[in-house]
Amino acid sequence: MSEISIVGIVGAGQMGTGIAQVAALAGFDVVLYDVSLEQARQGLAKVRAGLDRQVAAGKLAAELRDAALLRLKPADGVNDLAPCDLVIEAATEKEEIKRRIFAQVCPVLRPDAILASNTSSISITRLAAGTDRAERFLGIHFMNPVPVMKLVELVRGIATDDGVFEASKRFVERLDKTIIVSEDFPGFIVNRILIPMINEAIYTLHEGIGSVESIDASMRLGANHPMGPFQLADFIGLDTCLSIMQVLHDGLADSKYRPCPLLVKYVEAGWLGRKAKRGFYDYRGEVPVPTR
Ligand code: NAD
Repeated sequence: MSEISIVGIVGAGQMGTGIAQVAALAGFDVVLYDVSLEQARQGLAKVRAGLDRQVAAGKLAAELRDAALLRLKPADGVNDLAPCDLVIEAATEKEEIKRRIFAQVCPVLRPDAILASNTSSISITRLAAGTDRAERFLGIHFMNPVPVMKLVELVRGIATDDGVFEASKRFVERLDKTIIVSEDFPGFIVNRILIPMINEAIYTLHEGIGSVESIDASMRLGANHPMGPFQLADFIGLDTCLSIMQVLHDGLADSKYRPCPLLVKYVEAGWLGRKAKRGFYDYRGEVPVPTR
């Protein structure tokens, strides 16, 4: 393989659809795969809605949107990923799910195809070791929402080939993103710092030191963060926040990373944040209302 031109995305959720959107706009052909054709089609509808919003806001010409939409295809099964030069896995943040996906996808791919994970926290080296291509595996970690956020963390596994890393770097540069390189340790750079901060905000709430609103206002106005930690946690997804805390806790074996029991409770309730219409705020009405 010389250069990447066809990109497969596994997982048509928040992140997969965002990656599909920026890749199609940058001129790549994109195949979007999820558990069913129906799910992949729903993902594509989200991409279309995202592009329409950009056109309506005057940020994108309608012709560029139409051209990008022609480059996007929903996958009707894993075999549709066969022509891909690069496959980015952006499925649920659970190691066994990702392992199962790689076991299904690898036999379909060309031996020279690159496989990447958008995992927020799971070891790239360990994920790579469970595939048939540890040398052609790396972490390409986008931020949410992908069309807006400038940063991408590139994470090399212990075996990642230099040529694969450079080809992936060129791919990300074509998306007009800024790259930082992180060593492969739990949470990489951004989430190693960000998610414990969110977890600490949840402890601050749990211990009754402040309310959802006062803690969010404190960090917005007192630390100049654009969003409060609860707004951000709801935006990321509380299940994703909990998974990352568990990975930090397990991987670094330090009690300072213990997930707050209140976060666990919200996840057990299915109050996962914006995507479930309820988290630390209730999004079912006109304006978000704190749930505590
Ligand atoms: P999400 O819940 O919105 O989407 C996950 C998608 O994966 C769903 O559409 C689901 O149907 C699909 N999926 C599950 N099992 C599958 C399988 N076996 N085959 C194909 N598809 C499958 O999650 P998300 O927020 O998009 O997160 C996806 C990944 O991106 C995770 O690894 C997460 O850690 C990472 N990530 C998330 C954020 C964030 O802020 N949410 C930021 C950066 C990275």
